[in-house]
Amino acid sequence: MPEDNNREPSRVWFVGSGPGDPELITVKGMRLLRDADVVIYAGSLVREKVLEWCEKGPEVHNSASMDLGAIVSLMIDASRKGRKVVRLHTGDPSLYGALREQTEALEKAGVPYGIVPGVSSAFASAAALKRELTLPGVTQTVVFTRLEGRTPVPEKERLGSLAAHGATICIFLSVSMMDEVVRELSCGYPPETPVAVVYRASWEDELVVKGTLADIKEKVGESGIKRQAMIIVGKAIGDGPVEQSRLYDPGFSHGFRK
Ligand code: SAH
Repeated sequence: MPEDNNREPSRVWFVGSGPGDPELITVKGMRLLRDADVVIYAGSLVREKVLEWCEKGPEVHNSASMDLGAIVSLMIDASRKGRKVVRLHTGDPSLYGALREQTEALEKAGVPYGIVPGVSSAFASAAALKRELTLPGVTQTVVFTRLEGRTPVPEKERLGSLAAHGATICIFLSVSMMDEVVRELSCGYPPETPVAVVYRASWEDELVVKGTLADIKEKVGESGIKRQAMIIVGKAIGDGPVEQSRLYDPGFSHGFRK
């Protein structure tokens, strides 16, 4: 394609690449990848197999070795040349994706962008567990959180305080700190509470470790899982009997079923 510095900047697309299985990207994300001239992805997080959707032999950049300034100027320059830029994020871009600092820089530069959602690893993990995160009679709330790492977590959101609600909690970025995870969760959940750790949900080597608050630390230690894993805790992921939902209750009518 001829490049012209005076043309309208093209829209930069931030695309959720999903949890790993290349088929778990959205149709829209796949289409944008097929058509992309420039792709930027975080090599440490996004699965490279997703790049197999590219068809135009795009210029591919691994952002693992770039700082924010370099990533942003690459996107801005390419967009101003009218090139189709895809910035791949793992899972869904709205969770722990360092998205905002990139979009703000594009806004400042007057470069248009769009965001395509993706399947979060939280949902791929629920699928691996074959469990519903919201269960009638148990909980109607899901919390997404993490332990503090280099990014601080506000004091009011300490895992120990969140545990007080008894909701389902999906804990990102924390499997290397199981000691602390279990200690904090024990502030609110009894020891028999089900906990599952899903390593690389949707990958070929996906691994599920199931236990309780009392034994999950030891089981995860034995499994050797140290990263790329989701921790899900709460009664909803357990095996107990299930209360029927009102939605399919024969005695309950709604707009579509009288
Ligand atoms: N935006 C991503 C999360 C990025 S933070 C999403 O929506 O999934 C990176 C963390 O996500 C990892 O530390 C891990 O906790 C989790 N994660 C990412 N991919 C995963 C996968 N395939 N299986 C389990 N957990 C995963």
